[in-house]
Amino acid sequence: MSISTYLTAALSGDHRALARVMTMLEMGGEETRDIMRAMYPRAGRAHVIGVTGAPGVGKSTLIDALAAAYRQQEKTVGIVCVDPTSPFTGGALLGDRVRLQGRATESGVFIRSMASRGQTGGVARATRRVVLVLDAAGFDVIFVETLGAGQADGDIRYIAQTVCLVTAPYAGDAVQALKAGILETAHVLVVNKADVPAAEAIVAALRGVLDLDDKKEGAWIVPVLKTSAERNEGIAALRETFMQHGDFLRNSGQWQQWCEQAARHEIITAAQALLWTQFDAKCHDLIAAHVRAVLDGQTDPDTAAERLVHELMRSGV
Ligand code: GDP
Repeated sequence: MSISTYLTAALSGDHRALARVMTMLEMGGEETRDIMRAMYPRAGRAHVIGVTGAPGVGKSTLIDALAAAYRQQEKTVGIVCVDPTSPFTGGALLGDRVRLQGRATESGVFIRSMASRGQTGGVARATRRVVLVLDAAGFDVIFVETLGAGQADGDIRYIAQTVCLVTAPYAGDAVQALKAGILETAHVLVVNKADVPAAEAIVAALRGVLDLDDKKEGAWIVPVLKTSAERNEGIAALRETFMQHGDFLRNSGQWQQWCEQAARHEIITAAQALLWTQFDAKCHDLIAAHVRAVLDGQTDPDTAAERLVHELMRSGV
């Protein structure tokens, strides 16, 4: 099959073609540019929701329940999993995971686990591209599951319009994570496993931290929700909160601002990668000379870097 046949099939939502196109993007082959050209103009409508949190807090169970809740409203759902510990990863779906297998065969749901190998542009970039494909193929909602640490997580704000931090009783680090600045990126906080008695204390602690935050007029107020993904409790309320955040972004003009920031970030990342490739290929000898100068004690790495950049600019690289 030719690339354009794959692209047409993928854009019409064909699962096998979608998977094939995503693999091509992950491998970073020569088709990448054709794929990006075909996808980009068609994307920009999906609500992308980042679901982040420590392993075991119940992210996958929660996403599974949310997918069902969105399906009840006839919304199509894409799920991208960047968490290497997630049960979405790999072919082995065990025990209570069997229902996910059922979900994956539904035509309105597409699940993709990110491969950790074979990516040329880093996890975050590959994730953005997989999300782009789902967006272009017309999926209404796309969940991106991440661990809350690592490269894709730092960049989750450029991938998702709504970022949801999930914690659970005994997860311990929840309040610390907030203090450490996750507040700047999280729009919705969830205490999952609310069926466990200690959940209420975590909710109170999180609300306490949020109350310390200065609230600007007209700003989004970060809600703290309780869910029991396993018992399917609090899921509809969480779906409504996500939809409200989407509406808030659209009505306040922040959706458009987000699109601009995400596009800017994408361009800068691509330009950096391009520059680095050219730089690396052309400047091997030049860098070696600076390394020698540093090791010989003639200069320090910062000064060497400054000189190197000057030399490169002068030579037009
Ligand atoms: P993830 O690593 O964050 O994706 O967490 P999982 O979704 O794999 O869930 C980890 C464990 O917590 C599994 O054994 C789930 O069955 C369990 N779990 C998930 N949600 C709940 C919940 O609401 N209540 C309780 N008691 N257990 C849950």
